[in-house]
Amino acid sequence: MDESQGLLSALQALADGAGSYTTPTCAVGRFLEKAKDKKETYASIIDNKAIPATQIAMTFKKHELYLSVGSIRHHRNRLDGNGCKCPADKK
Ligand SMILES: [Zn+2]
Repeated sequence: MDESQGLLSALQALADGAGSYTTPTCAVGRFLEKAKDKKETYASIIDNKAIPATQIAMTFKKHELYLSVGSIRHHRNRLDGNGCKCPADKK
């Protein structure tokens, strides 16, 4: 009983804060933020759907950076109006 009370009050706290959450930046967005002046170059390559997301993920891995295929696809899907809502496109 105590357990479910804890859950309910935790969910209630979420409901109370609804609308005040900022969209978290995805793994791709975080990488781009760190890329600074190279950001647009990286972004144009990552957003190029002619390149399979698997190839991009593999290339990152070779350089000991880990972006999952799912993260890349999710980030790219924002171009179609769904998927990632991270603020990576903000200048
Ligand atoms: Zn993103």
